[in-house]
Order: sequence, then structure tokens, then C-alpha cells
Amino acid sequence: MAGPKKTVLIIEDEPHIVMGLRDALEFEGFGVISAGKGRDGITLARAENPDAVILDLMLPDINGYAVCEELRRMSPFMPIIMLTARSQETDKIRGLDAGADDYVTKPFSVNELIARMRAILRRAARLGAAPELVDIGNAKVSFSTHTLKVGTAEHALSYYEVELLRLLVERAGQPVSRDEILQKIWGLEAVPTNRTVDNFIVKLRKKIEKHPDKPVHILTVYGFGYKLATAPD
Ligand code: CA
Repeated sequence: MAGPKKTVLIIEDEPHIVMGLRDALEFEGFGVISAGKGRDGITLARAENPDAVILDLMLPDINGYAVCEELRRMSPFMPIIMLTARSQETDKIRGLDAGADDYVTKPFSVNELIARMRAILRRAARLGAAPELVDIGNAKVSFSTHTLKVGTAEHALSYYEVELLRLLVERAGQPVSRDEILQKIWGLEAVPTNRTVDNFIVKLRKKIEKHPDKPVHILTVYGFGYKLATAPD
């Protein structure tokens, strides 16, 4: 692996999962630290400032959502992947809303999880070099702080949201296909579906559009993909 060794913090109370992840991550050249409780994980993150966090949703003391929110307050840029035993869409969305960058549902493939983490780390490295501010309607997007402001309301943006917006902004006024979005943002290593793109579009519309059901900025191009219109509201 190029560059200095990256450290991953695993917050998970099931020892066999920690052991499996630790082995795989160390084999891939990562340093690994771990905590079995949420509060210990927060303390460790504060002390060690890891490059990425793998966070279980079900922990013995406080739940993963609370841990995620705390980590996000501490470090807006730290990549966080949530592990969840639940497969309900609402739980996933709640995890992403709490500030997770991605999630995998147990039982998961360690290789897929590592591939996703690498993708997020690569994007995090790329994003570090691009301090841009863009207006989309009344929303002000900051690609450097991963935030979106509308009036006095400020929303945190996850890495996928930032990358999706960046791609749409680069191509503002032109239709961008779902396939291109998937290929450029999720890459070939993970296996998302077109629904993945649509779910993130829904999340972005809620943050940007005055009427998310009747979007005027993130427009659907029927049977193809999406198009961004940045004109004022
Ligand atoms: Ca657990």
C-alpha cells in the first residue's frame, strides 16, 4: 500500500468479527485498533485519530448511531462504515443520516468491506485538495467542509453525497447517466445497484430542494439518470 500506514478503528463487541477483520486488515497493510464498547471507541478515536472507523450498530452500552454522531462531531471527515445486522432500509438511512459514509449488512464479506473502505479513503484523499464552494439554488455547498447550508440550516454531507454532488456540479446542465454515476463514484469493486444512486438522490433532494417531491435542481432524466440545474430558487 502506498503512503504511510493507515490505522483503522474497529468498534464491535463480537470478538470473532473483530478477529476476522483484524486479520484481514493487517494482511492488507492497515494498522488496527479496537474497542468492544461505544464509549471506549469514542475515547480511542479521540486519542488515536484513526484514518477510518468500522462501527457496529449493536453495542453493549450505547448504540452505533450515537457513536457515529459523536465521531462525526469530533471529525467531520473521518470515513465511517457501519456494520448492521438489520437489513431494513430505514436503519440504513438512519445510519447514513447519523453521518456514516457507508454500511454493510451482516453477514458481510470482509473483502467487500475492505474494498469499500479503500474507495472511501481514496475519495477522502482526493477531496482534501478541493476547497470549493458552489451555490445550488439557495443551498451553499462546501466541498471542503462537506457541508450544505440553506439559510441558517446546516447539513453534513457523507462522502457519497459529496462525490455525487461534485459529479453533477461538474456536469451541470447536462444529463448524467446512472451507470456513469455508479462507475465513477462507487467503482467496480463494490456491488451497488441503480437503487443505490436513487437513494442518495433522495437524500440530497431532502437537503437541497425546497419541495423534495417537486425538485427543480436535481432533476430526473427519465430512463437515463439525473441532471443538475443550479439556477436560484
Ligand atoms: Ca454487536
